[in-house]
Amino acid sequence: MEDFIKDRELLKDSAYINGEWVVSDRDTSFSVMNPATGKKLIQVADIQIDQVNICIENAAEAFLSWKTKTAKERSGYLREWYNLILQHADDLATIMTLEQGKPLEEAKGEVLYGASFIEWFAEEAKRTYGDIIPGFAPGRKVMTLKQPIGVVAAITPWNFPIAMITRKVGPALAAGCTIIVKPSEETPLSALALAELASRAGIPKGVFNVITSTQAAAVGKEFCENSTVRKLSFTGSTAVGKVLMHQCADQVKKLSLELGGNAPFIVFEDADLEAAVEGAIASKYRNAGQTCICANRIYIQEEIYETFAEKLAAKLAGLKVGEGLRAGSEIGPLINEKAVKKVLALIEDAREKGGDIMIGGRVHAFGQSFFEPTVILNAQASMALAQEEVFGPVAPLFNFKDEQEVIQLANNTKYGLAAYFYAKDVHRVWRVAEALEYGMVGINTGLISTEVAPFGGVKESGIGREGSKYGIEEYMEIKYLCMAVE
Ligand code: ADP
Repeated sequence: MEDFIKDRELLKDSAYINGEWVVSDRDTSFSVMNPATGKKLIQVADIQIDQVNICIENAAEAFLSWKTKTAKERSGYLREWYNLILQHADDLATIMTLEQGKPLEEAKGEVLYGASFIEWFAEEAKRTYGDIIPGFAPGRKVMTLKQPIGVVAAITPWNFPIAMITRKVGPALAAGCTIIVKPSEETPLSALALAELASRAGIPKGVFNVITSTQAAAVGKEFCENSTVRKLSFTGSTAVGKVLMHQCADQVKKLSLELGGNAPFIVFEDADLEAAVEGAIASKYRNAGQTCICANRIYIQEEIYETFAEKLAAKLAGLKVGEGLRAGSEIGPLINEKAVKKVLALIEDAREKGGDIMIGGRVHAFGQSFFEPTVILNAQASMALAQEEVFGPVAPLFNFKDEQEVIQLANNTKYGLAAYFYAKDVHRVWRVAEALEYGMVGINTGLISTEVAPFGGVKESGIGREGSKYGIEEYMEIKYLCMAVE
């Protein structure tokens, strides 16, 4: 894999702990695979729990000096790191495509999106103001300070190997916290390349650490139960999020959770159909359908159902499925065989319950882990794909009659991350935007992710917000000072 990377020092096979590259103290390692070929890329250190413990102690030590730096100093380190990420965007994108599969152009987009969080929080670092509050009695001075929470632990998924990390590390470091990240065992290389650049940016030892490990449950437990860790930030499945929340309860540990979604994508009869088709493709097929804000249930008003389906299918037929490093590929592989099997099972269930496969529905001729862009007509609420995250390039089209019905259908899920709708009537736009029980709503657009806006969900989709002016609050505590003055 070295042949594809210009700066080979970005390719690491050990963990980054307290400013050093560390192998497993039991000499254990695990394989990182290329999902496009099924071939091994590299062996990476499988870090043991006692080493995780040491890492937490190092981060606590580093916190003592990191928190006392001025906001401007911390901002300077982040800015330097941001610049290095941009300088190495091509290599970072290549590493990401090799271990994650997404097309190179998309990977580059993620590198820039990921970097934007570092830039944003380099700026926000300087604006963590407290308040002076008018006193409640003569001689009583009331003030608030914002202080960093302390050592943070983060657990991140494979679908955005860089952005899900920078979205946590950016605000944590800006606030004055130190952080330990355990990336997904499927995609540790992007995280390690980020660590190499953080090291080159001069970020002091122990401030940002990366633990590579296959012992996800044990590492997660340690993060939750070690009282030196003051906050856990997790992005991943709702099932694992719940386990972590239970484990954190004993210490009332602060938590941010970005969990699963089941996004409705609604097209009303007055919508601009061409724009709605474009939006559906952008939202549904990004990362081969493997994002938590991908359109999962596409609701089309009955008057335009057939036309929409035809237009969507025609556009999908032109999408190029292929290996991410090949020029022009638009849809890469799914992350592994298990993911392909899950998508196949969801399609089979839909077929049994009356779904018609309009296009696709099978493993792609390109290879075992590639899947055909699929459209399912006559989708029904009873199908498993109406309740579960599909995480594949499959668009089920549901038919609806009126606004009230579709709002009820759209909200009928335990999830509440992103929702989308297309409509022109301004009264309808406002009513629907307010009625959708979701943390984020795309109106006449299928792309909503940006560092300037708060990302997060309601219901079982999570707790807290990432990005925007709100993102840094997750890493700070408000302290109230009451001073009696004679
Ligand atoms: P996904 O379906 O996106 O892989 P997971 O929730 O399984 O979602 O994984 C997200 C992250 O959580 C990964 O880094 C994974 O290693 C980690 N993880 C998986 N199981 C656990 C667990 N029991 N405790 C802590 N972390 C876990």
